[in-house]
Amino acid sequence: MRIDLHTHSRVSDGTESPSELVRAARAAGIDVLALTDHDTAAGWPEAVEAAREHGVALVRGMEISTELDGHGVHLLAYLPDPTYPPLVEELGRILDGRGLRLPRMVARLRELGVAITEADVHAQSGDAAASGRPHVADALVALGVVASRDEAFDRYLSAGRPAYVGRYAAPLEPMIRTVAAAGGVTVIAHPWGRSGRERPDEQDLLPLVEAGLSGLEVDHQDHAPEVRARLRAIARALDLVVTGSSDHHGAGKIGHDLGVNTTAPEEYARLLERAAAAAAASGRRTPEVVR
Ligand code: AMP
Ligand code: FE
Ligand code: FE
Ligand code: ZN
Repeated sequence: MRIDLHTHSRVSDGTESPSELVRAARAAGIDVLALTDHDTAAGWPEAVEAAREHGVALVRGMEISTELDGHGVHLLAYLPDPTYPPLVEELGRILDGRGLRLPRMVARLRELGVAITEADVHAQSGDAAASGRPHVADALVALGVVASRDEAFDRYLSAGRPAYVGRYAAPLEPMIRTVAAAGGVTVIAHPWGRSGRERPDEQDLLPLVEAGLSGLEVDHQDHAPEVRARLRAIARALDLVVTGSSDHHGAGKIGHDLGVNTTAPEEYARLLERAAAAAAASGRRTPEVVR
């Protein structure tokens, strides 16, 4: 069984529609796929339909922008009731923050002498529910300013680069509780990825586990083998579920092909057990895994 629990569609910053993504998963031999667009469940209905058509099991999820001590943490949330009002409200704040940031990034780029407009970015983001820096990067590629998303981040968009603009992210621990109250489970995405900081560490994780955190995404392309080994040991010590995923973004992220990392069936089963317990305790109407 091949299980990939972290992927993006065009509803956020992937390059495939939800149905194209499901079809690609089938072709890649994925049996269980989670759609986890940034900060939105807007892709779920299309993905559900495609999953039924193509015979792929689908876990409805999202990757929520949160922060711990002023540093960004991506929180994967699986199978929450997407209508739970506190969740809807907080996702709304995050999406508003994404929208407000776009014109500010465009203004920064223009100050730097790059002739880019908001329309150039909208031409890339289309009707995405969650716009982001990758869409600005794509606009820079289309304008011939840079050759790739990577170059756009390296030169302009990464934290510390000249066109970087911050945005609202939800406090991590309250968001873990909110997802649990919505009947879902949470897994920290690429915990020690990109940032290069080895945080959250075991001490940071203790209160998060107390708040209901279920797992760590250990097997991710941003983690070197020794980082994976250390995260796996922490997960074992804290009785957290270990997941592995591609973080696929279609053509938008090189080296993140579907199934490049996968989750062990026993770990997936443990995650589903915890989801069932959270759903029962919440009293909310939560989505089932589409089979
Ligand atoms: P945002 O959510 O708008 O702050 O943008 C962050 C997203 O940009 C991440 O989720 C990644 O998908 C993507 N990203 C970050 N760094 C890079 C990079 N160097 N190359 C391509 N995509 C990146
Ligand atoms: Fe992304
Ligand atoms: Fe992420
Ligand atoms: Zn992701």
